[in-house]
Amino acid sequence: MSISPLMPVYPRCGVRPIRGEHCHLIDEDGTRYLDFASGIAVNLLGHSHEGLISAIQQQAATLMHVSNLYGSPQGEALAQRLVDKTFADTVFFTNSGAEAVEAAIKTARAYHQHEDGDANRTELITFTNAFHGRTMATISASNQAKMHKGFMPLLAGFQYAEFDDLESAKALVSDKTAGFLVEPIQGEGGIRPASQEFISGLRALCDEHDLMLVFDEVQCGVARTGKLYAYEHYGIEPDIMATAKGIGGGFPLGACLATETAARGMGFGTHGSTYGGNPLAMAAGTAVMDAVANDEFLAEVTVKGERLRTRLEQFIGNYPDLFELVRGKGLMLGIKMKVESRPFFVHLRDHHQLLTVAAGDNTLRVLPPLVAGEVEFDEFLDKLSAGAASYQVPERA
Ligand SMILES: *Cc1c(COP(=O)(O)O)cnc(C)c1O
Repeated sequence: MSISPLMPVYPRCGVRPIRGEHCHLIDEDGTRYLDFASGIAVNLLGHSHEGLISAIQQQAATLMHVSNLYGSPQGEALAQRLVDKTFADTVFFTNSGAEAVEAAIKTARAYHQHEDGDANRTELITFTNAFHGRTMATISASNQAKMHKGFMPLLAGFQYAEFDDLESAKALVSDKTAGFLVEPIQGEGGIRPASQEFISGLRALCDEHDLMLVFDEVQCGVARTGKLYAYEHYGIEPDIMATAKGIGGGFPLGACLATETAARGMGFGTHGSTYGGNPLAMAAGTAVMDAVANDEFLAEVTVKGERLRTRLEQFIGNYPDLFELVRGKGLMLGIKMKVESRPFFVHLRDHHQLLTVAAGDNTLRVLPPLVAGEVEFDEFLDKLSAGAASYQVPERA
């Protein structure tokens, strides 16, 4: 037998964390890493947040799981919080981002297949370099061939337009179009915020043709950009939105949010999840909302984001051969490199104990816990500077 007990789908690195403390991870052998990856935009309260821990501990000791066949006071309460704080009127809880996007895709299709809809409208227009998850529907929603290879046939009903190019989206709209599925700020694609014109234009197309505007805010949502959700930066509202990653603060939780109109097809028996919205997940989500869903916290993220960005912009000026620019919003930042970003990310990790995330378009993702402050930013800039100074760009093979 040569296959590993963990199915070898991830090329795992040598960092093997066994403990987390605020913005640091501690490895099996005691090495401390500064964690500016946050489990890929998940641990927004860091690794040992007392409110989150005690909420989970208390709920685990009280009631961990019941079926969705029963009433859910915990689910109703968290759904109401999300409804109060967003565009949405109704919420379906999931256990992951891909499931939240799946629910969003189903909700958009069901809107048109409702008795008042146009059942020919089955196609969602999605965008180049998008990432929506790894289920069959969510890989089909992305144009990235590397995620498709070996998994044919794809799910039908997706058309790919150019990200941030309104004309390209417009050109694909037909009498089969159900709506648009888009990350307002692409994460895996390289921390690329969509332009105002693009988002406003998609909203206008949806209004004009009765289409669903579906946002995937799995990575950019939940206070990461200084707003509770990134759509707020654009002064428009989606009809349907997927959220996950940060919303559980590290506990597996996601949700599909929708307006009442958009959710008209999602009646009894149309969708479900055994674990979705169970009391333990609701306790985690509630603790996260308690911490982040207030103006004070959000304003702090904005200020911290601006400070970190300014410092990064100054820093990259010292290495014009390595770095091109900084982009993103709040504490969702990307450094676009002039060389391949992946080997540099490995260098920072292995030689400077700094954890970031590589992304598309040769971008280095900087996703600190939202509770990071000046002390952690100082440490980050120190490690990044040392990393850049000691870096030898590898020869291309
Ligand atoms: C991570 C991510 C997903 C998938 O979430 P999982 O929890 O891994 O299923 C979907 N969309 C975006 C934008 C993401 O960043």
